[in-house]
Amino acid sequence: MIIVLKQGANEVEIQEIKERLVQEGFKVHFSQGVERTIIGAVGDQSRLKELDLEALPWVEKVVPILAPYKLVSREFQPADTVIKIGEHEIGGAQIHVMAGPCSVESRSQILETAHAVREAGATFLRGGAFKPRTSPYAFQGLEEEGLKLLAEAREETGLAIITEVVDVRDVKLVASYADILQIGARNMQNFNLLKEVAKIDKPVLLKRGPSATLEEWMMAAEYILNGGNNQVMFCERGIRTFENYTRNTLDLSMVPALHALSHLPVIVDPSHGTGRWQLVAPMAKAAIAAGADGLIVEVHPQPDKALSDGKQSLTLPNFQEMMTELDRIARAIERPILKEGER
Ligand code: PEP
Ligand code: MN
Repeated sequence: MIIVLKQGANEVEIQEIKERLVQEGFKVHFSQGVERTIIGAVGDQSRLKELDLEALPWVEKVVPILAPYKLVSREFQPADTVIKIGEHEIGGAQIHVMAGPCSVESRSQILETAHAVREAGATFLRGGAFKPRTSPYAFQGLEEEGLKLLAEAREETGLAIITEVVDVRDVKLVASYADILQIGARNMQNFNLLKEVAKIDKPVLLKRGPSATLEEWMMAAEYILNGGNNQVMFCERGIRTFENYTRNTLDLSMVPALHALSHLPVIVDPSHGTGRWQLVAPMAKAAIAAGADGLIVEVHPQPDKALSDGKQSLTLPNFQEMMTELDRIARAIERPILKEGER
């Protein structure tokens, strides 16, 4: 349930209500709006009657949240979550483009890509260091060496870094290098991993499972918020359908659906969402038009030589061209993507 306090409720009053809730076994979360405080209380709703919160003079109303997700819901927090990472804000006015190879393969590959995507206007460098693949015989990633190369690229270019963590045992290690931790589609319901990233003070990008419903996906995010980390962004990356021309079916309807139901930012991955580089720019444009707060796109200096996902990777010139096209759409919806000098 959410408890909306009257305007001007003071600290002592807020604390008193918190204590009452905790005594009754509720887990309490605060959402401090500009005008008023909202308290989210998760627990046994049947205790509600006894608490008789509406009798308190500084309580405006008590509203049960009927959906199974609570903390991620718009009801709990009406204002958009804006995630601050250095000078960047995800979920704010600017659209962010995260770009880079599927996997970090070598020093020259990641540095060349980093310089090119930064030049084109990307603000984050992506690259997988831990790559469990469909086949156990395929390239599995450079692991910590890959994280070090990403950190070197950040040092050289100023780009922030997003990389995937796949194992509970690696969360601290990956968090010590990355600016955003990526939870991959296949791990969306790895609840132990979700609980572990909930404990760290780094933003998390939560990809949609290949066959997850919207509600399952939101419940996965709920795990992370409930565990204490509210810096979470969703990432639509396509779902498994009967269509096999594309690798996945990019479900762009999730962008406005998530914005309606949740306050968390939404990122779109048109690379895994289509599996074909020719479809990436058109779907990236559509994603921005649909209201996405950012994109994550695979880019490789030589896609035909890539150790993973070459078929869906843009070349450096193709990425540059896509950014110019995206800028037109971004400006039309008054959400800048490139700064004046980059245009
Ligand atoms: C990736 O980003 O390279 C990746 C493995 O994505 P997904 O988890 O969406 O398949
Ligand atoms: Mn990939």
